[in-house]
Amino acid sequence: MAEKLKNTILEAVREVIPDRGRVGLHEPELKGNEAAYLTRCIESNWVSYLGEYVERFERELAELTNTSHAIVMVNGTVALHAALLVAGVEPGDEVLVPSLTFVASANAVSHCQAIPHFVDSEERTLGINPDALQAHLEEIAELRDGVCYNRHTGRVIRTVIPVHIFGHPVRMKELQQVAKNFGLVIVEDAAESLGSKMNGRPLGGDGLMGVLSFNGNKIVTTGGGGAVVTNNKTVAARLKHLTTTAKTAHPYAFNHDEIAYNYRMPNINAAVGCAQLEQLDDFIARKRKLADRYANAFASLEGAQFFSEPHGASSNYWLNAILLDDQDISARNEVLEHLIEAKLQCRPVWTPMHQLPIYKSAPRASLSVCEAIAARLINLPSSPFLADRTLTSEE
Ligand SMILES: *Cc1c(COP(=O)(O)O)cnc(C)c1O
Repeated sequence: MAEKLKNTILEAVREVIPDRGRVGLHEPELKGNEAAYLTRCIESNWVSYLGEYVERFERELAELTNTSHAIVMVNGTVALHAALLVAGVEPGDEVLVPSLTFVASANAVSHCQAIPHFVDSEERTLGINPDALQAHLEEIAELRDGVCYNRHTGRVIRTVIPVHIFGHPVRMKELQQVAKNFGLVIVEDAAESLGSKMNGRPLGGDGLMGVLSFNGNKIVTTGGGGAVVTNNKTVAARLKHLTTTAKTAHPYAFNHDEIAYNYRMPNINAAVGCAQLEQLDDFIARKRKLADRYANAFASLEGAQFFSEPHGASSNYWLNAILLDDQDISARNEVLEHLIEAKLQCRPVWTPMHQLPIYKSAPRASLSVCEAIAARLINLPSSPFLADRTLTSEE
């Protein structure tokens, strides 16, 4: 069974990526103005926290996400941490997080000394299922004076973190309704979805805050980096203050009005980010072309399907994925190993958070869909350059 499946899957991938040696999962591409802008930083001596590129990068990120403010930081994890603090998450609170996510979404909750409460995903978006969340909260939560409490643990449930997995939008309208029903603040983890749209609107601006990442494997990189975007001026000012040591304005005195963080992004990273943003449209066009080729190659394959963007979405297809029909981890691993042997860097989705020993005692909803997806999903090589192959005579 797995024998036949692994061969047909490799053949399908080979239709898209001819055998030319090792292929990474998602490689950064720095062929624009990155070197020129970096040189400008060095020649002008503006390498640290102040400088033209930080401001420009923030302005452009706000524009891209259709928000009014962006605050850049050293990585996406600390950006999530800062966003949760500003959202009012306090030690001992619970925060609703999909179990099917990268560990940073849950860790940022722990960094607030709060507790992640894992909720289920849905197959059509790979993100939080708003209907299942509504049903779960009806069962375990109650509102008192507009504050949501977990009746089993007695803790406040403050916030929900939808994650746009692999760039595919969560059903935000429905999620916003659930958040309203239960008095929850939304912090969007849009780390993977820069440039994705739903009904023509960019992701990241639907919650009180949206969080971006510019890690080396993301669609746009600054080496390492992150940002929080928001439409709320007070929130933006609070984020800036909290992530820049809470220094009060003064011509020379160093006074700090709370114990805060140094999460600032240096100008040299922002310089790379500005150059990368100039290429974002091109990256997305090529990644969508690549996804289209995968979709065609897998169209009539039995035993697995290519994951296509949800209805109404225009995804950045950060990482391409296939879902095997059967929920069989050993078959999935055989397929994975076969692809890896062929020098194609493929991987399973992250181990669901509730299955990690570090989060084994965290509160949770029923997570059957999350577990089924995790057992069936394989990510395929997704670098934009893979769409650039010139057509050969064999094709
Ligand atoms: C990459 C990522 C992050 C964190 O970003 P870093 O910049 O690596 O800290 C958070 N959430 C998700 C879903 C991610 O994919």
